[in-house]
Formats: sequence, structure tokens, C-alpha cells
Amino acid sequence: MEVLLVRSTVGLPLDSSRRRPFRAIHHTSSTISVCGGGTNLRPGEISLAHRGVLFLDEFTEFRRDLLESLRQPLEDGFISVSRASGSVTYPARVLLVAACNPCPCGFLGDPVEPCRCSPSAADRYRRKMSGPILDRIDLYVTVPRLTPDELVQAEGQGGESSIRVRERVLRAREVQWDRWKNLGYQCNAELPEKALRKQVRLDPDGRRFLKDVAGRIRLSGRGISRVLKVARTIADLACEESLSTVHLAEALAFREGGDLPWDR
Ligand SMILES: [Zn+2]
Repeated sequence: MEVLLVRSTVGLPLDSSRRRPFRAIHHTSSTISVCGGGTNLRPGEISLAHRGVLFLDEFTEFRRDLLESLRQPLEDGFISVSRASGSVTYPARVLLVAACNPCPCGFLGDPVEPCRCSPSAADRYRRKMSGPILDRIDLYVTVPRLTPDELVQAEGQGGESSIRVRERVLRAREVQWDRWKNLGYQCNAELPEKALRKQVRLDPDGRRFLKDVAGRIRLSGRGISRVLKVARTIADLACEESLSTVHLAEALAFREGGDLPWDR
């Protein structure tokens, strides 16, 4: 219903497939087209992606001010657009997916092709990858080049198939829905700070472990909350009721800098 409501305000077809939205935005997009507003007040791409995926390709090419304007909605799940006549609030609970090369030439960390970038160019590029929005990104994953073997492998031979992964994800979603429905949340990610502290329990080992690592890598309060949510989801995917140090360690390994080629 929420997705259909947003679509109806911009005259998009109201298909009944119940598919979650997927919206890709380009780095040249205007802030109004992404966040909403304009003379004929309308929701932006971040609201059209509500309950679905907002995809940013070539992440390092995006303007700083545009990325800044995504911070608040990523945190709150809604966006307020102000105009002279007043302000409007649109829903904006998205799963943000961003992709970029590891360096300008794209080969940093590649086992076959050497990186051709000068240290200063690579450094400039890396600096573009920093900023407050990165604090709101939970999983960092390096996607290495596929070997010729992997490329010619038949579907399903190289690890778990997407269909099996999908089943696991749907099951984890159901578990989360069941766990939080009385509190009015759909998944771990939606849990506000207070509820998180009360509802997601750590055993003494887990608490000690998280405290140690958080101090060492200077994790912010927000960072700790996000690690807890990701760890809870990792445990849900593994169908495990209690949250252990293993889940926390995996969640921490996905944090900023956890798996980027320039940190190896
Ligand atoms: Zn390079």
C-alpha cells in the first residue's frame, strides 16, 4: 500500500505484482529529482524506492551535497521537503546499494592486472570515498575479478545458488517480522536505538568482544547500533536464536575498511 501510494502521486502505473521497487539514480541527477520537491511538489527517487532498493552506480562521481542530503532519510526512513508554502513529508525507507571502482583505473587489488594509477590519483579517489554517509553503510564488499574457470562454470556449480539464498533471506525476513510485529517494526534495520538496546541481548563474551573492538577501531554509537543489527540479521540467516561473538565478528568484518583493497 505504501509503495502504491507513492507511485500514485507521480502517476506511475499501479502494478499489483507486489514487487519491491528498484530505482537507479545517475550521478548527474538533481537533488530535487532524488529527494523530492520542485514547483509541482512531488516525491523524489528516494521515495519511489521506498521499501525497495535505491542504487547508486559510480558512487565516487556523486556530488557531495547530493550525498549529504541522503543522510537524514537514510537514518529516519522519511524525508521532509520544504517549500515556501510549507513542508511535506514522504516515506523514504530504502536499502541503499552503491558501487564504485577501487581506484580510477579499476585494477587496485587485482591479482592479474597491475594498477596504473599514481599514488596521488589513487589517494584523491580514496578521499572521495570518505564522508559521513559511509557511516550509514553497513556492508562493504570487494568483488574480485572472476577467474576463467568461474566464468565458464555452469549455473549452480560455484557455491550456493541465488534461489537457495533467496529462500534463506525470505525465512530470515519472516523471523524478523514475527519478532518485531508487536512493536510495529518489519525488520532488524528498522529498530530504533532504544528498542535495540532493550531487545537485542548480548552474552557477557559478546559484550566484552564488542566493547574491545569498538574501542580499538573507534566505532561511534551509531556504528555500534548498526553492527548489532547486522549481527542479529547474520544470526537470523543462520537460523540461530542467540547472538554470539561469531555473528558480531562477521558483522564487524563488513564495516567500512573491513574488506577494501587499499586496506590489505
Ligand atoms: Zn588504479
